[in-house]
Amino acid sequence: MSNVAIIGAGFIGMASAAWLTRDGHSVTLFDPSGVAQGASFGNAGTFAPYGCVPVNNPSVFRDIPRFLLSNDSPFRLRWSYLPQLAPWLARFLMSSRRANFETSATALAALLSRAQEGYAPLLDDDDLKRFVKPRECLYLYSSAASFDASRDSLALRERLGVGFDVLDSGAIRELEPQLAPIFARGVLFRDSWHFSDPAGFLQAFYERLAARGARLERMKVDAIEPGAQGVALRMNGGAHRFDHVVIATGARSREFAHQCGDRVPLDTERGYHVRYASASALISRPCGWAERGFYMTPMSDGIRVAGTVELAGFTEERNRALLDLVTVSSKRALPALGAPDREWLGFRPTLPDGVPVIGASKASERVVYAFGHQHLGLTLAGVSGRIVADLIARRAPPLDLASYRASRFH
Ligand SMILES: Cc1cc2nc3c(=O)[nH]c(=O)nc-3n(C[C@H](O)[C@H](O)[C@H](O)COP(=O)(O)OP(=O)(O)OC[C@H]3O[C@@H](n4cnc5c(N)ncnc54)[C@H](O)[C@@H]3O)c2cc1C
Repeated sequence: MSNVAIIGAGFIGMASAAWLTRDGHSVTLFDPSGVAQGASFGNAGTFAPYGCVPVNNPSVFRDIPRFLLSNDSPFRLRWSYLPQLAPWLARFLMSSRRANFETSATALAALLSRAQEGYAPLLDDDDLKRFVKPRECLYLYSSAASFDASRDSLALRERLGVGFDVLDSGAIRELEPQLAPIFARGVLFRDSWHFSDPAGFLQAFYERLAARGARLERMKVDAIEPGAQGVALRMNGGAHRFDHVVIATGARSREFAHQCGDRVPLDTERGYHVRYASASALISRPCGWAERGFYMTPMSDGIRVAGTVELAGFTEERNRALLDLVTVSSKRALPALGAPDREWLGFRPTLPDGVPVIGASKASERVVYAFGHQHLGLTLAGVSGRIVADLIARRAPPLDLASYRASRFH
């Protein structure tokens, strides 16, 4: 069995650790901030096997004026970041053309169809299952016109195997009576569920892994040096050698890929959440307001309203207008909400075609990538971890990996 290092202890790194430990490898995770402190901390918590329609889709062209000019838009661009973003944005727009976007959607659907089975080793005892809330996610549309505008993407989801039911305003109210009567249509996605506390789940999971011998070193890895006999990680002025290394550093993975011979155009779609403590009883399931780009998810510590997309790089500076939009809109949807008591900013790792990179590096098969899961990292963690373990064991993965290779951008 091998000595494997995983850089990054978010959903992707932890799921990789689960599958690798199951294969009997000795696993060391490296992350200076501990378990689940990146994007994996503050997401909307939804297991969303219906999420095969990426942000890069043809509706982007129709919506650009709204994105750029409307105060209600959940999509923002920081103009000062545009010079750095331009190459990514050009590729993103290219990927949004129908033919390219359908290729991305198909690649995502293939992974998503295996997402649930990928969770098997992460949910194999009752103490962990208690974090799973088996209530289907509900998408909401405030006008029949905006629902009609989404018919194409719903039809594509259906073709790609997603099951859902369309609800009218009465059925929405029956399901979630505390929602304001402002929603004309809803879509209830079958086979979806959510975590009551995503970071709490990963922490509990880590404790189980640690009992089986996995270790977490709270250290930042500075550089990676792949070689024929092994891979060296440089940190704290020294080098540590491993048989295999997994790059699961989310939005911060570009530099490591570069050091392994792959130029990947990875950038970040920033997202926010606000929390309303003690309000969880108001809704029974994640309710996403489609036009406003966020979910309201009942979690163990309150309702988390999470979403939006801001293209502005890695600055910690927060977009007050976007946070206000989330707060005002969520109170409009759920009038019984009080005042939020926490705000959070996170960095989704996003490639311009919306498809993650999962596979071996150019420099060495000993380095395996698993990053770029955009809005779906929680959902795709299990299947990604399984593929990582298959590659390291030299087993056939459960699907053809051509669509996910890093070299697609070369
Ligand atoms: C607002 C919002 C809502 C979302 N909602 C959902 C949802 O409902 N469902 C869903 O499936 N997905 C959702 N996502 C997406 C999901 O959260 C991400 O795709 C996922 O968390 C990415 O996981 P990761 O492990 O790749 O990255 P991260 O969780 O960001 O983890 C990467 C880790 O790498 C570490 N790291 C970085 N550099 C180094 C280094 N040099 N050395 C060591 N460690 C390093 C970081 O400290 C970090 O902990 C949402 C995201 C956001 C922002």
